[in-house]
Amino acid sequence: MALKSWLVSANDPQCEFPLANLPWGVFRSGGEARIGVALGDRVLDLRACAENGLLAGLNANLLDACRAPLLNDLMALGYDCWHELRAHVTGLLEEGPPGSTRSRVEPLLLPINKLEMQLPARIGDYTDFYSSIHHATRVGRRFRPDNPLLPNYKYIPIGYHGRVSSIVVSGTPVRRPCGQIKQHDAPPVFLHTRALDYELEVGAFVGPGNHQGEPIRIATANRQIFGLCLLNDWSARDIQAWEYQPLGPFLSKSFATTISPWIVPLEALEPYRVAAAERPPGDPAPLPYLTSLADALDAFDVTLEVHLQSKQMREAGMAPICISRGNLRDLYWTIAQLIAHHAGNGCNLRPGDLLATGTISGPNPGSEGCLLEKQSDGEALRLPTGETRKFLEDGDSVLFRAWAEKPGLPRIGFGTCTGTVVPSDQHTTR
Ligand code: CA
Repeated sequence: MALKSWLVSANDPQCEFPLANLPWGVFRSGGEARIGVALGDRVLDLRACAENGLLAGLNANLLDACRAPLLNDLMALGYDCWHELRAHVTGLLEEGPPGSTRSRVEPLLLPINKLEMQLPARIGDYTDFYSSIHHATRVGRRFRPDNPLLPNYKYIPIGYHGRVSSIVVSGTPVRRPCGQIKQHDAPPVFLHTRALDYELEVGAFVGPGNHQGEPIRIATANRQIFGLCLLNDWSARDIQAWEYQPLGPFLSKSFATTISPWIVPLEALEPYRVAAAERPPGDPAPLPYLTSLADALDAFDVTLEVHLQSKQMREAGMAPICISRGNLRDLYWTIAQLIAHHAGNGCNLRPGDLLATGTISGPNPGSEGCLLEKQSDGEALRLPTGETRKFLEDGDSVLFRAWAEKPGLPRIGFGTCTGTVVPSDQHTTR
């Protein structure tokens, strides 16, 4: 039986943010950044709750963390504190007898549509992985038709260190980047990309982290996850093709990464944890440091969608169309494995670090997590205006959505992760 809130919008079955979700985010109000949790069509101002005595009884560290302008301090406190705070906030918002705290809480709920959201944490390090075997296979096949996966893929969660400075919050325009592009036998030229792509990914924010030199065991890795968000790792494929060997992607990725503003707590996703996808017969078993307990539910049943709207569609009043749908459970490597691998050499992860899964693609047509993969079948994407797309054009908006659902349980939504492509700065084109 799902908990009900006295806030009516939170009980709508289609609502993204029911009482069971309570995702964390940071919004700006009066020039200040403040921590909030989303509920229905509102956001509860946690700093105001702390200042109005509504968090009385919580420990002093938690109270301080709720007054902070970013989520790092809360992330550092760990799972038990997150649980304690969520339980307390749930109590404030839960339907209850008259005379409860409702009259004191209600003025601290702000309309979600009116708020300016910002990056939720000071992100120290950002690591991008490559954990979808369906993505790796389709992309690999373009270059090596007979042998799409490199020999390390089934042993190592492949990753690279990304760029933090260009991570932006959903809604920020993305400028078409320039870079070195090499075509055929001609020498490379410095031009704006003509192969701009999105990558549908999920980001995991790290909680307490580990001390340098002390690995994180896979059995405790999920306890390190503060929560999940949506992430678009924008990519310039023509720049990537020329620069990526031998050290991996660089400027083809570092110009922008968009994340959704709301971080869905792992606790809200508990009912949607599932066993990781079984490895096909013949695949090697993961090495012991990457092997979860047999009954571990380390994957998450979360539906993910990509929507696209061209400028022409927007001007004609047409809604974005869904161009692919996948599921977070389809990954070859779980997020717990990514964490255990990342810290396996003693590398210290810190509160607010961001790990991304890599493009999430499913096995079937229609579940490709980027445009590059969609081209495998040779047909360009067709839009309702009659336009076609191989890659993104200026004015295109890309929108990700995600949710977990199950009969009898409330729908846990992620909100949206959007960005619109704006033309390259022509002055830089030379
Ligand atoms: Ca990526």
